[in-house]
Amino acid sequence: PSNLDTRYTFDNFIEGDCNSLARNAAKAVADNPANTAFNPLVIHGNVGLGKTHLLQAIGNHITQKFPNKAVLYVSTDTFTNQLVSSIGSNTTNDLVNWYQNVDVLLVDDIQQLVKRKKTQDVFFNLFNVLRQNNKAVVMTCDRPIIELDIEERLRSRFQWGLSADLSMPALETRMAILKSKADSTAVDIPANVAEFICFHIQHNIRQLEGVLNNLVLHKGVLGDGQEIDLKLAKEVLKNFVTEINKEVTPDVIQRTVADYYNLEVENLASATRRRQVVLARQISMFLVKQYTEESLKSIGRMFGGRDHSTVLYSIKTVKDLMETNDEIRKSLSELERKIRIGRG
Ligand code: ADP
Ligand code: MG
Repeated sequence: PSNLDTRYTFDNFIEGDCNSLARNAAKAVADNPANTAFNPLVIHGNVGLGKTHLLQAIGNHITQKFPNKAVLYVSTDTFTNQLVSSIGSNTTNDLVNWYQNVDVLLVDDIQQLVKRKKTQDVFFNLFNVLRQNNKAVVMTCDRPIIELDIEERLRSRFQWGLSADLSMPALETRMAILKSKADSTAVDIPANVAEFICFHIQHNIRQLEGVLNNLVLHKGVLGDGQEIDLKLAKEVLKNFVTEINKEVTPDVIQRTVADYYNLEVENLASATRRRQVVLARQISMFLVKQYTEESLKSIGRMFGGRDHSTVLYSIKTVKDLMETNDEIRKSLSELERKIRIGRG
């Protein structure tokens, strides 16, 4: 058994600056395992950034492309457990022989070698045999090899090949990852909600998947009528991040818009008929209606005691402008972006 999980492929690994070296090195090994320039390849990075995904992708690719090659994926913990039980049953030689006969060895989480002297010794010998026979070895680690507290002879061998780092993807890449994962579920995440989620998940892609799974669950529980909106996303995000920057409140909207048009917040509630102020006021009303639960009446009140038909008229004006005026449309999407990501 190769222990491969076919869900993880190069096709569904989204590339970005944060991972292109690691991804391309992994692909190079997978395309040419018998003669890789990177032996060993070590992929390191924090938890949840795609190390296991890439390692599995190598295995799956080789299995497809070179069906005769023996590929083995193993976590360092599993390897240790196998070793321990083989010692108990006097079968360590069999185990080692079996490992020595693979063509490609994929070892996940080698930070688990720390403090395991016996595993390190066995692995040292195995590594030497494989490498002498030109068998590809790829490993992952949650820290750079230089920071790995293992026997020096083992560490120096791990440094013979290539080390490639995985870091957290930028916002756009995170959004692409979320979209790609969401596409394989039944839920549709509107772009503004996706951006909101990705803005707040800043350290770990696995959490991004956690949020998505939660949204799917909520939708399942609440039924098809349930829209994936900002409110629901916020509810779910609370379980993943301690601080969601800011609530989208009328106040945040007013400050964002005033800021954008170089006005004071007070101007929005004033009686001024100055063109720029009127526009900013109408846009603010439109956005408050869109992003909060405020009624037309209460919106009128917060904009200097205007009546509800004035608010309605303002909202309609903005909607019309969005149809006809490119500049307004651009301003609005910029404003919405600022408001959505809570940086009002
Ligand atoms: P690690 O082993 O580094 O802790 P994983 O490989 O388990 O992280 O990745 C966590 C989750 O994030 C996985 O479901 C993986 O598919 C996903 N993931 C991470 N990076 C990417 C990426 N660049 N493209 C697509 N999915 C990714
Ligand atoms: Mg992993």
